[in-house]
Amino acid sequence: MSRDLIVALSGGIGGAKLALGLSHVVAPENLLIIANTGDDFEHLGLSISPDIDTLAYTLAGLDNQVLGWGRRDETWSFMETLETIGGPTWFRLGDRDLALHVERTRRLKAGEALSSITADVARRWGIGPRIVPMSDDPVRTKVLAEAGWLDFQDYFVGQQCRPVVRQLAFEGAAQARAHPDMIAALASPRLKAVVICPSNPFISVEPILAVPGVRAALAGCGAPVIAVSPIIGGKAVKGPTAKMMAELGLEVSAAGVAARYGALLTHYMLDHQDAGATIAQTASVAQTMMRTLDDKIALARAVLDAVA
Ligand code: GDP
Repeated sequence: MSRDLIVALSGGIGGAKLALGLSHVVAPENLLIIANTGDDFEHLGLSISPDIDTLAYTLAGLDNQVLGWGRRDETWSFMETLETIGGPTWFRLGDRDLALHVERTRRLKAGEALSSITADVARRWGIGPRIVPMSDDPVRTKVLAEAGWLDFQDYFVGQQCRPVVRQLAFEGAAQARAHPDMIAALASPRLKAVVICPSNPFISVEPILAVPGVRAALAGCGAPVIAVSPIIGGKAVKGPTAKMMAELGLEVSAAGVAARYGALLTHYMLDHQDAGATIAQTASVAQTMMRTLDDKIALARAVLDAVA
């Protein structure tokens, strides 16, 4: 049996960039993308899954490249009207985006699993690779700041990551069942490599690792496990990764992320800027800044070459 299956663990924006690159170099039936659901929340009565949606929009070519998040060709009538009647406007929901949340909420309420809804939407949008939530059970990331525990989206969007992070917790993770397709893929003799995308380790990857059985499945998978650094030259490309590392008392560097993942990884991909870093895993170097589609495809190739 040939080893051709790639499992990618992903958060939202950084993860989706590499997932898109991988989708150009791996046959769709051989790519399984596991999405973090720790950012999911309920808002205005709707079930919102930001990382699944970022992956789906990106892989369907529907992502908003002007804003850098959300959907392409977005309009904001709902939000504008909501404001006039005094509704909460701190979390911006575009009109087109809203349709996805309304429909997902309806189907979840009817008893359908998140993974089934995700697969159906992906199929309708012509997405080749499978996007699978880490679990169909709710997991909710919480952030311990000075003022106490915050819901993730209150910290991330509401307070724009300003509070100093002391600790993170993944509510519900201990009771959550890892999605069976993820566990089966990690145990498959077809598994060629696991790719941990350049996502925020604390709020995008560690929620996936917190689901019982995932760390053990990775440790026992028998295939290379490679992470791409989300830190380039001591800085995050976007978002609070570097700020969180400093607040959690870790070295803010590509090597700091490699140390955080530790023995979970066999391989690590650094940017050229960090080529001199000392890390415990087998290191490779590439251009890891992904601005264009070509950058994403080139990095995906480099990652697969590194573990070949
Ligand atoms: P979120 O869930 O939307 O916050 O997105 P992720 O967790 O998937 O990605 C956020 C991380 O991606 C941040 O740490 C960024 O530094 C990193 N990132 C974003 N774009 C790039 C890129 O082009 N290259 C690399 N190496 N990292 C990136």
